[in-house]
Formats: sequence, C-alpha cells, structure tokens
Amino acid sequence: MKKLDLMISNAFIQSNTSEYYEKICPLTQEVQVLVPLSTKEEISSAIEKSHHAYLSWKDTPIMTRTRLMLKYQALIKENIDELAEILSIEQGKTLDDAKGDIVRGYEVVEFACSAPTLMMGETIENVSTKMNTYSYRQALGVCAGVTPFNFPAMIPLWMFPLAIVCGNAFILKPSEMVPNTAMKLAELFIQAGAPKDLLQIIHGQKEQVDVLLDHDLVQAYSFVGSPAVGSYIYSRATANLKRAQAFVGAKNHLVVMPDANKQNVINALIGASMGAAGQRCMGISVVLFVGQAKAWISELVEALSKVKPGAWNDKSASYGPVMTKMALNRIEGFIQEGVDAGASLLLDGRGAKVKGYDKGNWIGPTVFSEVTSDMSIYKEEIFGPVLSIMQPKNLNEALDIINNNKFGNGTSIFTSSGASSTKFRREVKVGQVGINVPIPVPLPFFSFTGWRGSFYGDLHAYGKQAITFYTETKTVTEKWFEEEEHEEVAFNFKEDHSK
Ligand code: NAD
Repeated sequence: MKKLDLMISNAFIQSNTSEYYEKICPLTQEVQVLVPLSTKEEISSAIEKSHHAYLSWKDTPIMTRTRLMLKYQALIKENIDELAEILSIEQGKTLDDAKGDIVRGYEVVEFACSAPTLMMGETIENVSTKMNTYSYRQALGVCAGVTPFNFPAMIPLWMFPLAIVCGNAFILKPSEMVPNTAMKLAELFIQAGAPKDLLQIIHGQKEQVDVLLDHDLVQAYSFVGSPAVGSYIYSRATANLKRAQAFVGAKNHLVVMPDANKQNVINALIGASMGAAGQRCMGISVVLFVGQAKAWISELVEALSKVKPGAWNDKSASYGPVMTKMALNRIEGFIQEGVDAGASLLLDGRGAKVKGYDKGNWIGPTVFSEVTSDMSIYKEEIFGPVLSIMQPKNLNEALDIINNNKFGNGTSIFTSSGASSTKFRREVKVGQVGINVPIPVPLPFFSFTGWRGSFYGDLHAYGKQAITFYTETKTVTEKWFEEEEHEEVAFNFKEDHSK
C-alpha cells in the first residue's frame, strides 16, 4: 500500500514514523493511501527550517513575493482537471463540485497578488509639532494551519498563499482524510518557484497538531473544522499566548417569505441543502417557511426526492457519498433522534443505494417538518443532506429563531419586499447574509466572517482582513529636528500643557 510523503524543504520525503492512518475510499471502503503520523522530530525540524526561511523571505521585495503568487495562480488554473480528479477521488464530491472547490481557492491566490496594496501601512504628518506617525505591516514568522476534509483545496488556499505573500512561512497539516489534494497544491507551489521551506506539509492528527501548538517558533494558527476541535486548538494556542482563529460549525437558516418567488426558492434549496451531501459549512440545514409560504413544502419535498447521490465521475449525480462510515452512522443516528423526538420525516434518505457501489457511504435527501428548537436535529450540526423545516408566523419570529442559535455562519432570506430584506439584513445576527441568494459566500476581497460559535478568536478571516491576521502592525511616531535644532523637553512639556 502506498505510503504518503511529507513535503519538507520542497522535497517529497518518507516519514520515519511507524504509525499510519488508513485513508479509506468513501465509495468502496478500500484503503487508498497510508497517511504518516509525522514524528515530533520531523515537525520540529520543519518548523525550525521554516523559521530560517522566513528570516530572509520577509526581507524579499514584495514584488518578488507577489510574482510567486501570480505564477502559482496560473499553475493551479492549468492543472485544474488533474487537481479536481485527485480531490474527487479522495473526497468523493462530484467533479463539478471539486472544480468549484479549487476555483474558490485560486480566487484567494489571485487576491494575494494585491499584496503590495493590501500591505500598505498608514501615515500622517504633524500628529504634533514636527512629529509624524507611520504604521507598517510586518510578517509574524512561522504560521500554521489545520484544515478539514470538506474543502480539500479551498481551505488550505485560504491560508498559506496569504500568509506567505505577507512574508511568513507556513506549516500546513491537512485533514488526514484528504491529504492528496494538499500534496498536489504543494507540488504546484514548488513548480511556481517557491523558495525552500516557505511551505511545509506534515501529516497527522491530534498528537501532531499538539507539537505545532506548543512550539515556540509558531506565531499564529488558523483552524477550520469541527466545534470541539476548534475550541481545543483555540484554547491551547491562546494559553501559549499565540494568535489563533477558529472557523468552526454552522447551522444555516434560509427564510422564505410568502412574497418570494416560489420556483427560485425551490431551485435554490435543492443545491443549498443537498449540495456536497450537506457537508458544507455554508450549506442550508434549516428552512423557515414564514406564514403562508408553508404551502410550498410539498413541492419542495417532491423536488428533493428526485435528487440522487452518485459517484464523483457520474455526471447525473447531484452529490457524492459522505466522507466516512462513521459520519454516515452519525447522520443516521440524528435522523432516528428526530423521529423519536416527534419531528415529521417527510423524506427519508436512509438506506440509499447507488448501482456499482454497494459499499459507498450513501444517504439520500432527508427532510423533516414540525421541527422545534429543542430537538437535537435542530441544535446540532448534522453535516449531511438533512433539511429541517420550521414554520414561524412572521419575520420577527424567524429572526428570533436564527438569533438564538449557537452558530452564526451564514443565512439567507427569499423575499420580494425591500422592507423585509432590509429588516433582515439589519437585525439578523449572522456574519454572512444572502438576499435571494442561498449561499452568500463572499469573494476573497471581502472577509469570511461567521458570528458567535461559528468563528472566533482573532477575527481576521480570509480575504482583506487575513492580511492583518498574518501581519503585525507596527506604529512609529517620529519627531524631527531642523539642523542645529535641539529638543527642549522641559519647554515643550510646559508649552503643551499651557495650551
Ligand atoms: P475536524 O475537526 O474533525 O478536523 C479538522 C482538522 O482538525 C483535521 O485536520 C484533523 O486532523 C484535526 N483534528 C481532529 N481532531 C483533532 C484534535 N483532537 N486535536 C487537534 N486536531 C484535531 O473537522 P472535519 O470533520 O474535518 O470538518 C468538518 C467541520 O468543519 C464541520 O464542523 C464544518 O462546519 C467545519 N467547517 C467550518 C468552516 C467555516 O468556515 N466555519 C468551513 C469548513 C468546514
């Protein structure tokens, strides 16, 4: 069985470990690759090498750093078909979906090409008599990222291109469930001309992440993944007085007002709730049919019943299998809990079959109505193709439901009323808001800004504000003198106070 390499110092090398994670194919349950659980020595040595690389990289002209990203962006585009295939085979998502994952990622690389403008500091003359202040952005050093299984290309690309263009070095620990995409991204980065040791890829799980978290030379951590792991990583990183940000779970609501366009609502909900088998942090998992909009529920269920999962290379498939058998069992467990709690199961996706893939982690579209906010199917992130329907009487009631949820990643309203959309935009306590747009993921020149339990720590996300995450601002106040002029401290002091 193939053992995956680490990528250290721009070389693909075998780990010295004797421990491996068996990465299983979600379609067949066959072991696809053995993922090394990197040793402590390998990780520490990668960090130290990266620290040395950072010392010269931070002083490399910004146009040189930017040109690396220009080249990298072009290479990702040229290799998108191969990347998408690697991604689909290991993750299970359809080829179209895989391409979307990569496109969202290279958009961040394109954005990283604006580094010279984004890195600009601020200046003002005459903050006081003959005194100026400047602020500069300076790289931090070695930064580290720990990424989840659901966007194998986009999420690593949220992190290392921005960190590196700012002058840092980066250690990536991709999800052990989808490590091949990260390795291909690294290969292209080397091909783009990346200097040695700016990007290192180590593999592993908790033990390996702990080495990163406790190493003195790592300055900042970006984490994307589940709520429990996010709070652990955030607590440990900040206890070590390091900068940390955690993008975690979600429960995204879509509000349907009775004045919405019915067909737009149904079309939007099909992709937003079932796309990528519901394994998306911005997917819709709760739909709130306000007042008379509830009359459309049966048509929605009818439309969803036609949505079929399938293999990544089956063009008729709407989505692929869920990532692991464990995830499948967890989703099915939630469905049973929903039934037991008294929700009405309008569409049951359990036991779905796909021809030729008897062992795949299949689950069909599942819809519950009569869901209440105390049920586990409402409270917890299911991360599967399971949609809960609730029926608030009016927009205020819908807003109350959304604003009391522990997560606040994304939300959306479908309405033709300017008043309703304005009220929703102003009053909803969620970071990313769509108006007649089901999944309002912002382009990278905006920031990805979940609220409450969805995003915490250093609130600088990818995009514009990531520049401030990966840099430290230095403010310099300078007083100047004319030739032959001398400072007269006592006089100035007295003068200032007499004003
Ligand atoms: P996960 O938390 O299981 O794993 C994420 C990463 O953490 C992996 O690299 C994994 O190896 C590592 N990890 C796992 N356990 C660890 C531990 N005990 N200590 C240290 N590291 C550990 O998450 P997942 O199942 O891969 O991803 C799904 C989750 O990610 C969902 O909750 C989803 O909402 C979230 N997500 C959030 C966003 C966002 O932007 N808010 C985006 C994508 C995914």
